[in-house]
Amino acid sequence: MTTQKQGIQIDGAQKATLNTEPLRSDFRGPIVTPGSAEYDETRKLYNAMIDKRPSVIARCRDVADVIAAIRFGKEQGLDIAIRGAGHNGGGLGSVDNGLMIDLSLMRGVRVDPSARTAQVEGGCQLGDLDHASHAFGLATPAGIISTTGVGGLTLGGGIGHLTRKYGLTIDNLISVDMVLADGSFVTADADHNKDLFWCVRGGGGNFGVVTSFTFRLHPVSSVFAGPTFWPIEQAAEVLKWYREFMPEAPEELNGFFAFLTVPPVAPFPEELRMKKVAAVVWCSQGSAEETEKMLAPVHKVGKPAMHGVQKMAYPAVQSMFDGLYPPGHQWYWRADFVREISDEAVEKHVANANRLPTPSSTMHLYPIDGAASRVGKNETPWAYRDGKWAEVIVGVDPDPANAKAIKDWTVSYWEDLHPYSMGGAYVNFMMDEGQERVKATYRENYERLVTNKRRYDPTNLFHINQNIRPVTI
Ligand SMILES: Cc1cc2nc3c(=O)[nH]c(=O)nc-3n(C[C@H](O)[C@H](O)[C@H](O)COP(=O)(O)OP(=O)(O)OC[C@H]3O[C@@H](n4cnc5c(N)ncnc54)[C@H](O)[C@@H]3O)c2cc1C
Repeated sequence: MTTQKQGIQIDGAQKATLNTEPLRSDFRGPIVTPGSAEYDETRKLYNAMIDKRPSVIARCRDVADVIAAIRFGKEQGLDIAIRGAGHNGGGLGSVDNGLMIDLSLMRGVRVDPSARTAQVEGGCQLGDLDHASHAFGLATPAGIISTTGVGGLTLGGGIGHLTRKYGLTIDNLISVDMVLADGSFVTADADHNKDLFWCVRGGGGNFGVVTSFTFRLHPVSSVFAGPTFWPIEQAAEVLKWYREFMPEAPEELNGFFAFLTVPPVAPFPEELRMKKVAAVVWCSQGSAEETEKMLAPVHKVGKPAMHGVQKMAYPAVQSMFDGLYPPGHQWYWRADFVREISDEAVEKHVANANRLPTPSSTMHLYPIDGAASRVGKNETPWAYRDGKWAEVIVGVDPDPANAKAIKDWTVSYWEDLHPYSMGGAYVNFMMDEGQERVKATYRENYERLVTNKRRYDPTNLFHINQNIRPVTI
């Protein structure tokens, strides 16, 4: 027996085939369906723990394609996911049995060196932006792996090596072009659609498809960067020192704290390979002399096993971890914002660090003080301007057989540390943790997001995200 619902043919074996003809007439990019040879490759997400099967993947080439895809998705009553670079931990760039609006072919960047701005298409990766702006000795704050999407990262906030000096990625966002749920195309900036511009600086993909971001750039070309490692036995001493040192350090210096296992490859010394360590990964915008002076105290803490800070082009720093974390691994994420790291919290961190379940599993504390803390907590939806660190615990491994082990470790580490946190977490470091957690993340900004969601997306068309529901909960 065959039935038909909103253009979807459903045969007796419950296999759904979507009629994509109405989309094809308006669409320039490739349209990929479960029957296409490239379907499995195209639907892949960075986190291989998540395996979703969209009914159709609309690979947009331009704004017109985005408008056509949204119209088609609405006509067919499909769940709609928006994919930038597919890095999201919870796999929110894709959807089962729905429409994936895939922006990954829209990767143009236009730098205006005299205005110090970059206009970046919605499917760009961080590496596209860094490559284009570095040619002019310019950069803007963003994340630490070059294949991460500018889209998802920016819409959630954006933390990186330049955050203490220049703020979050959203603090450097000048304007967006976007297609809204009703299919209209708008620009939002400080003077136009101000509410919408407020929403996209932290409110995620809830308000529409951003086809282009314009960022402010800063003169950053080469930096001094690299890690200091300490044997895990010195972890408590190092973390207690770091919690005092980092907030007092000049804003030119960023250092994120990490527990990790030293990779078994050059340039790491043989005797350290596969050893668990406490680490700080530095990035200094000072001169060689200034960096040496800023980092002088490091050498007096415990007995560092390696100090590998050296001069690097900024894009090299931004892609330093790419090789260690290629796409296709299993990832399980948990996170929190942190203002203080008490002695008790240090103790619990160290106990969990000693139980890192796999060589790629890690815990990071990213500084969010300095320039990021000078923006008012209601100026953007990003409500934890009084936080000092965004903490993230991630279980990572290439082997699906270890999925349970990395999940169990991540959850139990998080449960140990959550009582010492500020309550909410960075949306881009969360998986699916439910509505209360989303609310906790936006604090008093949540209601304003709900009001605007009602205005811009009253039917919650864009709900495959850390969802702001158009109703008060
Ligand atoms: C290895 C790794 C390292 C990371 N490092 C950092 C870091 O240093 N700093 C940091 O801040 N974050 C970091 N993140 C988190 C990252 O910010 C999120 O994973 C983010 O969601 C990735 O964006 P994406 O576009 O690749 O995601 P996708 O999976 O493509 O999309 C994620 C969400 O964003 C929305 N979205 C994406 N693009 C658009 C758009 N153009 N318009 C509307 N909605 C859109 C989607 O609807 C979806 O809900 C890292 C993630 C990984 C996996």
